[in-house]
Amino acid sequence: MDYSENILGTIGNTPMVKINKLVEDLPCLVLAKYETFNPGNSVKDRMALQMIEDAEADGRLKPGGTIIEGTSGNTGMGLALAAIVKGYKCVFVISDKQSKEKMDILRAVGAEVVVCPTEVEPDDPRSYYSVSKRLAKETPNAWYVNQYDNPSNCKAHFKTTGPEIWEQTDGKVTHFVVGVGTGGTISGVGSYLKMKNPNVKIWGVDTYGSVFKKYHETGIFDEKEIYPYVTEGIGEDILPANVNFGVIDGFTKVTDKDAAIYTQRLAKEEGMFLGNSAGAAIKGVLQLKEHFKPEDVVVVLFHDHGSRYVGKMFNDDWMRKMGYVD
Ligand code: PMP
Repeated sequence: MDYSENILGTIGNTPMVKINKLVEDLPCLVLAKYETFNPGNSVKDRMALQMIEDAEADGRLKPGGTIIEGTSGNTGMGLALAAIVKGYKCVFVISDKQSKEKMDILRAVGAEVVVCPTEVEPDDPRSYYSVSKRLAKETPNAWYVNQYDNPSNCKAHFKTTGPEIWEQTDGKVTHFVVGVGTGGTISGVGSYLKMKNPNVKIWGVDTYGSVFKKYHETGIFDEKEIYPYVTEGIGEDILPANVNFGVIDGFTKVTDKDAAIYTQRLAKEEGMFLGNSAGAAIKGVLQLKEHFKPEDVVVVLFHDHGSRYVGKMFNDDWMRKMGYVD
């Protein structure tokens, strides 16, 4: 018989899939690391499990404890699945720009969800950073995950995602392109691939309204770069400890409109029903065209599933209202 002891045994070992029509103009092979095959439908299951196991191991998370996190949804899903199997409670603090589907899904797997306003400064007491920290202090036997600065986030990708990409490409990967939020994916995969071959180029996909690209290029944290944007899952108005700028060769910024349009195009032209950051990531790959040669093997990572965006990027009324289509 061939089975997993519980759902957590199905995390990782996701497929690699060739992208065809959307990259016809590029000279090289483009492969997608297809993370929606994880049980929570996103890459974040990997780091959620790693963060919980590391916190259990050093006593930060105790039996019957409450897991508290500010999460845009996917990390919450991963934490909730592990919490169900391992017997913890979950409270998630989420910003109000996130889709309603994401909140409903978290409640469906037993989590309590607290919604906070997006358009306040990170140090405002109403922000989701502040509210999650306060709840962690006030709740007995609580553990505040802090995925932004928690080193287990990056470690999960160094231990699993990076080695899988290396093996699935027989060590032929030349470029890795991925959206950056907490930075765990790019830093963990990036350091593993550079350890195996220092010539592999690591590119981050950023949003307009986020600080990463300017900071990487100038070393300046420029508050003028910060303004509200629509793209979900990537870009930040803080510098998380998990972004290892030293392993990143460059950033490219993708507009909200392009991210939305390419999310639709992945579904309609490749049969890849994926989340908004996948649209941003594939548009980022296209923007980097001049960096690729025919013999290159470009790996782009797709973080999450399209079902979480049916009311937005997959809804024509929403696309029209945003002015993204006529
Ligand atoms: N895309 C989606 C949909 C996400 O949820 C996240 C996590 N915030 C990212 C991309 C960025 O990944 P990371 O946090 O590892 O940088």
